[in-house]
Amino acid sequence: MQADLNQTLLCSKCGTPISSDEIAVTRKLINRGAREFYCVSCLAEWFEVRPEDILERIEYFRASGCTLFEARSPE
Ligand SMILES: [Zn+2]
Repeated sequence: MQADLNQTLLCSKCGTPISSDEIAVTRKLINRGAREFYCVSCLAEWFEVRPEDILERIEYFRASGCTLFEARSPE
């Protein structure tokens, strides 16, 4: 039996399974209370930027200590 918390969320636009970082960046970029989430490529399309730019934002938010993003384990 699968726990609900581990249910895989899908991109609301293209149906790709999305990561916790993508959920977090959707919240940061679109709406903190967002209930629909998007993958990096759909976010890039939405904001008319490159997917790399979205990934950079994820790293930026993580580096700034945003609690929505999973911390990388220390080296
Ligand atoms: Zn998508």
